[in-house]
Amino acid sequence: MTLAVHGGDPVRTADWPLWPRPAERAAEQLTEVLHSGRWSISGPYRGTDTKERTFARMFARYNGTGHCVPTASGTAALMIALEACGIGAGDEVLVPGLSWVASASTVLGVNAVPVFVDVDPDTLCMDPAAAEAAITPATRALVVVHLYSSLADMDALRDLARRHDLVLIEDAAQAHGAVYRGARAGTMGRAGAFSMHHTKVLTCGEGGAAVTGDAELALRMAELRADGRHQPDRPPALHEMELVSTGTVMGSNRALSEFHAALLIAQLEELDRYNEQRALQASVLEKALTDLGFTPQRTSPGTERRTYFGFVFRLPRDLDGVDAPTAGAALTAELGLPVKPVYPAIPGAPLYRPHSRRRFDLGADHRRRTDPARHRLPVSELAAARHLTFHHSALLGERRDADDIVAALRKLLDHRADLGR
Ligand SMILES: *Cc1c(COP(=O)(O)O)cnc(C)c1O
Repeated sequence: MTLAVHGGDPVRTADWPLWPRPAERAAEQLTEVLHSGRWSISGPYRGTDTKERTFARMFARYNGTGHCVPTASGTAALMIALEACGIGAGDEVLVPGLSWVASASTVLGVNAVPVFVDVDPDTLCMDPAAAEAAITPATRALVVVHLYSSLADMDALRDLARRHDLVLIEDAAQAHGAVYRGARAGTMGRAGAFSMHHTKVLTCGEGGAAVTGDAELALRMAELRADGRHQPDRPPALHEMELVSTGTVMGSNRALSEFHAALLIAQLEELDRYNEQRALQASVLEKALTDLGFTPQRTSPGTERRTYFGFVFRLPRDLDGVDAPTAGAALTAELGLPVKPVYPAIPGAPLYRPHSRRRFDLGADHRRRTDPARHRLPVSELAAARHLTFHHSALLGERRDADDIVAALRKLLDHRADLGR
């Protein structure tokens, strides 16, 4: 049998599960907003809580924390979290060398300096020792990312934050519902940020949320996302504008629309069920891949429940010579499912281009602080050559989907000599 990339028959031609999947109550929720006379939080009070406020309450409760501020995107959630924690001009913020570009571009977005630190080779999350080595007197915060299906080593990172008096912000954009020593991802630092983008495990197309246990911080985040206004504890008279102005902080409009919030109310009801289904399928794959010599992404000790935004695995050593892009293209052809290398290390990534934006202060001082010679990232830089990932939606089907993935990997191993050519 020939590999599908070389014109042979593919292992699979059947479709993969579609994502996003509308929740049972999605249409009903959206229709309610359509006829409500209230499409935005900055609109008149119509006698009931906004969908935005309802979702905020539900998502805070889901995460076992006090407060949630919904936002237009995960990017917006990270920005208000950083700013509300007082991070700004000239502050250094530790960011993992491996993540989606927004984990770092948001640090620049609040005028701070992202200092990249390497990741752990098994979890692909921030390496606590590398983080500690990157601390300078200007370091004010660290943005910890729970990447793909792993939770970062929160025991060590929280300890580090405590010892150096740093603000810890969790980028939980990929980890809705994951649990670490009894706490949900996103609730272990001063603030946590989620993305509800199309690809994520909880989605409304475009959206986000910041969570915190600190009421004062929550109020600051709320004002930062609504041009300095916030929702009062008690609603105004019917048909009066609901948001009140305090003039405490100048914000920007990063609010989530009522349609998006309504959709999230419906989708949140199905998050746990989908997370369980993905974890079950992932555990089947983890075992089978390990038997074949692949190394599935690990998570940190202390993890009680993983969620799978992406399923990630490292190629076996005896595939050396065949890199992840080549193997990924072969698997994609066998399965009709995109199987891609993990993210490139952020500093050299095509999407990380600070100099393309005149708004950022990138003078000599910035160059000195971010000098690549000072902040080496060997693990982050090698990751995309050795690791492959596919989207979580492929874990939402039947058991035989896992069998197909395993069959494609087996075929790849059998034909590795052909791929080296
Ligand atoms: C998706 C994502 C973001 C940004 O979220 P958006 O909703 O796309 O703005 C930030 N960090 C990580 C790790 C992400 O995966």
